Amino acid sequence: MNDRYAKQRIFLGAEADASLRSKRVAVLGLGALGSVIAPWLARAGVGHLTLLDRDLVEASNLQRQLLYGESDLGRPKAEVAAQRLAEANSTVELHPVVADLTSGNARELLSGFDLLCDGTDNFEARFLLNDMAILTGTPWIYAGAIGGEGVVWPLHPPHTPCLRCLIEEPPAGGDVDTCDSAGVLGPAVGVIGSWAALEALKVLTGKAPHAGLARFDFWQDERQFLKPPKTRCRFCTERITEFLEARWTLKASPLCGLEGVQIRVNPPGRLDLGALKSRLEARTRSPWRQAGLMLKGQEGPDEITLFADGRALVHGPMTPERARSWYAEVIGA
Ligand SMILES: [Zn+2]
Repeated sequence: MNDRYAKQRIFLGAEADASLRSKRVAVLGLGALGSVIAPWLARAGVGHLTLLDRDLVEASNLQRQLLYGESDLGRPKAEVAAQRLAEANSTVELHPVVADLTSGNARELLSGFDLLCDGTDNFEARFLLNDMAILTGTPWIYAGAIGGEGVVWPLHPPHTPCLRCLIEEPPAGGDVDTCDSAGVLGPAVGVIGSWAALEALKVLTGKAPHAGLARFDFWQDERQFLKPPKTRCRFCTERITEFLEARWTLKASPLCGLEGVQIRVNPPGRLDLGALKSRLEARTRSPWRQAGLMLKGQEGPDEITLFADGRALVHGPMTPERARSWYAEVIGA
């Protein structure tokens, strides 16, 4: 196993290769992008990887999320990802976190890293990442893919522009509260994830990453390299982190592409799932199953999954309004 990094060491040089062993990286989102970024970093021997994702593996993920298989359906992505990466490289310290990133926990979850990697599919999380990068001076790599195209942009404010220098506010429809109905091709997101991982290795070994935003449309065979914006926004120049300061308590939004609702709470709570289990079983007169940090059961036609951090996923005909009042009634919020 001593020769695990032999090919990489020849290319990077012994010192740069060895420096990876002491680096700490957080990969936020373990969907299609994270499924590519995280394994490359684990196999390259990055010392510590925090793997953060709030979701469970669903059948509709398998077309493009390479870390998961059919036997993983219903399991938290962060946990499955950590298991797979440990098989690939047992020397990497892996820290899976099943949580929803909000302004209430971003400081706790995203501090103390050498690099933050964006594997998310929503701008709410990206603007929080950007704020954390500004607050802590940590580089981050913005990546996104949709349809047959994608973008990669390594950022390190104040040394480079920040996300808000280019996109001041989350685009309408790019927020987690609205469903993006566009599809995505697996190989397109795979190339983008690999490009992001490559830029990550540059940052971690002290080489300057690609300056500016690279956009590829693999389906139409187009590519663009946008120069970084010349003028800096007031958010990174004055270190204004307004997304980290945002205050909200509960959001109920439709699930994308599925019948159902997601309920998110901020700051994340600490639910006593054992006590809730008895209460819900008495209420619904049916068994609820507790597995790790999840509690799952049926309320009428809806299948409900509650997480210890206070989140809830409802699969069924329940509307967001009804889900909100169900939650207030049962959990109390
Ligand atoms: Zn900026």
